[in-house]
Amino acid sequence: MPVSPRPAVNTAAIRARRGPKVAVDPRRAYAFFRERERSAVGVIEDIGTVLLTNRECPFTCVFCDLWRHTLDEPTPRGAIVAQLEEALPQLMPVSVVKLYNAGNFFDPQAISPGDWPAIAELVKWARVVIVENHPRLTDDRLLGFRDLLSGRLEVALGLETANENILSRLNKQMTVADFDRTARWLRDHDCDVRAFVQLGLPGLTGDEDVEWTVRSIETAFSAGAQAVSIIPTRAGNGLMDDWQQQGHFTPPRLDSLHMVQQQGMALRAGRVFVDLWNAEQFASCPTCASRQVLAMHDMNLTQTSLPWPTCSCPNQSV
Ligand code: SF4
Ligand SMILES: [Zn+2]
Repeated sequence: MPVSPRPAVNTAAIRARRGPKVAVDPRRAYAFFRERERSAVGVIEDIGTVLLTNRECPFTCVFCDLWRHTLDEPTPRGAIVAQLEEALPQLMPVSVVKLYNAGNFFDPQAISPGDWPAIAELVKWARVVIVENHPRLTDDRLLGFRDLLSGRLEVALGLETANENILSRLNKQMTVADFDRTARWLRDHDCDVRAFVQLGLPGLTGDEDVEWTVRSIETAFSAGAQAVSIIPTRAGNGLMDDWQQQGHFTPPRLDSLHMVQQQGMALRAGRVFVDLWNAEQFASCPTCASRQVLAMHDMNLTQTSLPWPTCSCPNQSV
């Protein structure tokens, strides 16, 4: 279904429509939890995920609401270490850790390189340390952190979409070539790579959206990503809510998310995960939502396709 042309966007316009940030303490991670994920060798592992509190990401993508739990000022030296000292003991035992910082691990204003040795010491038990970073902030400086780790460094890069036109309108300030070059560079430098792609970005809907998301997964794998996480685009950051009301953005459907999960897995090029946080909101039928999400969760863990749990409730269609 075609969507109406949407307005041009820039950092100021996106920020102007935001609500207030949540008050955060620089010495406390804003969340941490355990999750399970299938490893590259097919073992289901417990992963400790820490959502670090730090200085806000400077890129201001149109769809992103991660700024809510961030600081306006540079993160004080030692703060990330304090956050990990509190969170990690509560997550053990795990063998893989995600240190996600709502932005870029190698942004020195977000995470001070002076803290790297203490961070590496705190995660020396980890087989894999996964961090997120923007392709344009990925360069030789990263190798200093890689070399401090006992385990492997895996970098999660947001490709978002391989559709160059849509990507150029997200304020991501990156091209598909930037992603491609960075993923290859990381693999050449003994790092693992995962990619984030989005389903339901403004400007794409229905079959076209599914098709581009699968092409984006293919693009990520071709560049060397070993895992791809599909994120359903969500409203909630101000501008996206406006756009939803104005018809410039339609949240994706849960059955479309299942479709890209299946088609991504069928590529047999690497692990494909879908982000199921609060995914029930995308279901057409509230009664069937939890079993549909459960099927997708099982697909995440087994990396095996399962049929869509069709809804046959009265007055529902999928
Ligand atoms: S680069 Fe990542 S964290 Fe930064 S605004 Fe974009 S999506 Fe959000
Ligand atoms: Zn139903």
